[in-house]
Amino acid sequence: MEEIFDAKKNEYNSDDLSILTWIINNNIKTEKGEIIDFKDRLFLLDILTDWSQEIVIKKCAQIGGSVTFNIKALFATLKLGWNTIYTFPTDSDVNEFVNTKTNMIIRNNPVFGEMSSDNVQRKTLGDRTLFFKGTVSKTAAIMTTADLLIHDEASRSDQLVLDTMKSRVKASKFKGRWLFSNPTTDKDAIDIAWNKSDKKEWHIVCGGCKTEQVMTFPESIKVNKHDISRTRYTCKVCDAMITDDMRRNGYWKALSPGKKISGYHISLFMAPWVTAKEIYDDSKAEQAYFYNFVLGEPYVPTDFEVSKRLILDNWTPKDLRTGKYFLGVDVGNIKHYVLGSEYGILKVGKFSKWSDLDELIKLYSPVMVIDAMPDNTMSKYYVENYRATYMSYFKENRDNPKLTVWWGTGDRRGIVYSNRNRVIDELIDVLLRAKILFGLDNHSEIYTYLKHWESLRKVKSKDRHGAETYEWESTNGQDHFVFATLYYYLAVLSSGSGSVFGESTQFQQKEVQLNDAKSVEDLSRVFCSANGMEYDEE
Ligand SMILES: [Zn+2]
Repeated sequence: MEEIFDAKKNEYNSDDLSILTWIINNNIKTEKGEIIDFKDRLFLLDILTDWSQEIVIKKCAQIGGSVTFNIKALFATLKLGWNTIYTFPTDSDVNEFVNTKTNMIIRNNPVFGEMSSDNVQRKTLGDRTLFFKGTVSKTAAIMTTADLLIHDEASRSDQLVLDTMKSRVKASKFKGRWLFSNPTTDKDAIDIAWNKSDKKEWHIVCGGCKTEQVMTFPESIKVNKHDISRTRYTCKVCDAMITDDMRRNGYWKALSPGKKISGYHISLFMAPWVTAKEIYDDSKAEQAYFYNFVLGEPYVPTDFEVSKRLILDNWTPKDLRTGKYFLGVDVGNIKHYVLGSEYGILKVGKFSKWSDLDELIKLYSPVMVIDAMPDNTMSKYYVENYRATYMSYFKENRDNPKLTVWWGTGDRRGIVYSNRNRVIDELIDVLLRAKILFGLDNHSEIYTYLKHWESLRKVKSKDRHGAETYEWESTNGQDHFVFATLYYYLAVLSSGSGSVFGESTQFQQKEVQLNDAKSVEDLSRVFCSANGMEYDEE
């Protein structure tokens, strides 16, 4: 550590203004009361000491960025005499962050003695103030002028409010604007600013061939197929092992030098405490999560629609019955259902009377997931009266972005929550890997079933905070079988293990020749005949 601080001394020779000297001299502690230690986070040092007017940081999750910026904002208030506005997407994000991080930092460090930690939205020192504000907020807009705007989670914030706030720094000499966030999709706030920046990437040097390089996926990971635990980081050129020290002792280098905006890209490749195997494992998880939170990159979905091929490729003439049944029910005037085993789908169909569902339950005793919308009266009835029945709600889990599906406990028992767009991504991913097969015992609904999947589009939209996002939508509202399939998938997940979909290799898939088919009807005909079934005209 000593060397680093010494090296920095020449650049920041005024003790009063050097944030590093200040941190050392005052033994600045984190929110946990620990002395700040940058040993594993050398990449944060340049960011901490960068006083560029415009900074953008495109980052992965859990690298200590928010706390670093918080300390920097407190330093700017205390030592530089700046008024700073620090934003989060919502007021509740502000409350959570200030109470668990900022207030703890203030309490743990006597240097902030006079700064009050009582007021969540305002930290005042002398005539200087650090304001915290949600971009989606019930409190009055901040009318005061500021020297610096810091936008934490910029990509998930209300973009209009971020733009409006630019006027707050007009009167200031410094006019600072610092953005940092996990990216979401391309052309979001972070991506736009990043593309205008000097694009600093963390460069490392291979100890073997001495080649300077930026670590990327999948090139920088060497998977050991015989012993997965020995998966390691690798040099892109000579294949030598890249050690934790090599990753730790990298340096920032701009890919587009000379730009006004100072940009940094932080990925988990730079975190010495993250192993190659962990990154490899995450790469197999849901892709939006892997890009945004592991690689620190925007996720641009490539599968904008689900082709019939995706479904038909998973067709099998084999009997998928195992004696265990899982049922997904999409509720509307007409109810759509998908019934299957842990290996795949056996039956799809529609009904209008609830008594038909009772019949299905009597016949198969399935584990069931039923849509709780638009009206949960009946789904509640089934949850209360049948064993192994869950009602489904779509929801986002802000506390744990990794969670796509979670189960209600206590008085929420019998509820399954999932993140709508991400669980559809996951389902499609599972289909792409042929972990759900189709072995339908009748085909009267195949045409409609495929039509529903084909109506699905991934479209870019704005979430309720105005942030860029993407959403699965149906072009015609006819997507009931998609959701029935999704509920079937959740029912299988509920039975206990993610490994359920792991191995279905015992069922060989049958190749279906689709080249001559010009329409969904043709396709249905093709695969019916390929599997010795008669095709019903609808
Ligand atoms: Zn090398």
